[in-house]
Amino acid sequence: MEQLLGSTSHIKGQGEKGNSTGNDTLAYELHGNCYVNITNQCTLKCSFCPKFNKQWDVQGYNLRLSAEPTAADIIQAIGDPGRYHEVVFCGLGEPTMRLSVLLEVAQAIHGRTWVRLNTDGLGNLVQGMDITPELAGKVDAISISLNAQSETVYNHHCRPPQQGTYPALLDFISSAKKQIDDITVTAIDGLVGVDIKACRDIADTYGVKFRRRVLDQVG
Ligand code: SF4
Repeated sequence: MEQLLGSTSHIKGQGEKGNSTGNDTLAYELHGNCYVNITNQCTLKCSFCPKFNKQWDVQGYNLRLSAEPTAADIIQAIGDPGRYHEVVFCGLGEPTMRLSVLLEVAQAIHGRTWVRLNTDGLGNLVQGMDITPELAGKVDAISISLNAQSETVYNHHCRPPQQGTYPALLDFISSAKKQIDDITVTAIDGLVGVDIKACRDIADTYGVKFRRRVLDQVG
């Protein structure tokens, strides 16, 4: 996912409604958006990730899941999506690791609000197929964590478990651009060796938007 780098100001989750997911936070509000936490599974082990620094509480809110929620749980936690500027698949995990749940929830809310996916861009690699046609028509925008201008810098910070991850990420940007108009790639300013201008140049090469993120702030 595009990582959470900071905190939330308000949370509403299944736990507050006392259902079977206990106190898990499945959806939380921030800046008028609803952020959705559908999994704690991850493709990477980013050195800057709160959870790999044993920090699951984000400004007092615990994003650790005791169990993987169902699509119905998540849809219920979101409530009326029309109350938000955006519903954003984010959280402390990579949403495309649970592709079927992601697609089901996105389908249910699409058209009632703007739907954005924050991803590490490794969905095609992990799923072994091009998932971007499946996302088209269900999400309106994708924000992809590029994180670095080179494979060496990327591997240093994101610690992928397999070779070829960075090229797969670049391929994902290209595939996503063919399916969905609103694509943004991001990189975090403040990480050693990350060249923000070079990351922006990569975004330009792919014809997508770029957003600079700041370490320790919510994205
Ligand atoms: S991709 Fe995974 S490890 Fe990296 S910041 Fe996001 S949640 Fe953390």
